[in-house]
Amino acid sequence: MGFDSIHGQRLLKEALQRSLAGGETGHAYLFSGPSGSGKRTLALLFAQALNCRGADPPCAQCLSCRKSESGNHPDLFRLVPQGASLKIEQMRDIKESLYYLPMEGQYKICILEDADLLTAPAANSLLKILEEPPARLVFILLTARPWALLPTVLSRCTHFTLKPLQPQELAALLEQGEEMLSAEQEIIFLLSGGNPGQALALAQQGDWRDKFVEARALLHTVEHGSAEGIFPLAEDLSTRTDLPALLEIVLFICRDRLMHTLEGCAGAAMLKEREEPCSATNISDPNLLALFQERICNALLQLQGELRGSVNRRLALEVLFLQMRGAI
Ligand SMILES: [Zn+2]
Repeated sequence: MGFDSIHGQRLLKEALQRSLAGGETGHAYLFSGPSGSGKRTLALLFAQALNCRGADPPCAQCLSCRKSESGNHPDLFRLVPQGASLKIEQMRDIKESLYYLPMEGQYKICILEDADLLTAPAANSLLKILEEPPARLVFILLTARPWALLPTVLSRCTHFTLKPLQPQELAALLEQGEEMLSAEQEIIFLLSGGNPGQALALAQQGDWRDKFVEARALLHTVEHGSAEGIFPLAEDLSTRTDLPALLEIVLFICRDRLMHTLEGCAGAAMLKEREEPCSATNISDPNLLALFQERICNALLQLQGELRGSVNRRLALEVLFLQMRGAI
């Protein structure tokens, strides 16, 4: 256990461990990152470590660590939004006790989840404490939107941003679960953007596998079906809310094809079983084929950007499919 249980975030963990070893604990920390990035886990480990009595904090074995983990440590407070906000009443409930010395541990620790949802009175109450913080009190603020915090609160926090995991870091995390092909890990990395929470959820749900099968079927229809068939397909797909996720996998397959053409590489294990060459374009020269495949990848990337705006989806998909068939 300990900080090693968190994958990636090497620099962040080293900084926290240095401050723990040097006894240079600040009064307020801010951990920011999107949902699923691991900031709550990190905050709980840091809180554990601050009051750990073991040799290598957090040891997860000592009484203090066990109490922190089970949520029964009298010096550890956690505030989560009630409804849509963190309210002044919640701050008032704990404010007085924050000024007393810790009951059992070295520090009193208060974790504020979704700190960007502090109401203005609650944020001001926090600010008052941070302006003249009692000794041995540590706040850990968590947020996915650091820019939404009061600048005066932000300036009093030591701010750490959780980074997306690198492919090999995510692979190490996924290998703790069920057995998985490296190509599957690669697809999960692509879809989750290196977000560990999302990656684990995808691995457990397995619905990306259905999308992968669908993406291949889509390519087959466009490349081998009749030209007329692309219009109802575009219309059908244009209303789908999961269109960006589906196109992400189409792009993954197209990139893999391009890599295969450029390097003659075997490609990802999952994609070894390659499709017939596109019967609509029928390009056999490898140089021309690479140019064409690169153009399709670029068209997919452009469409992904356009989908975030107010593009006519049906029309954009029709154009993409015609490009895939080499018709335009
Ligand atoms: Zn411990």
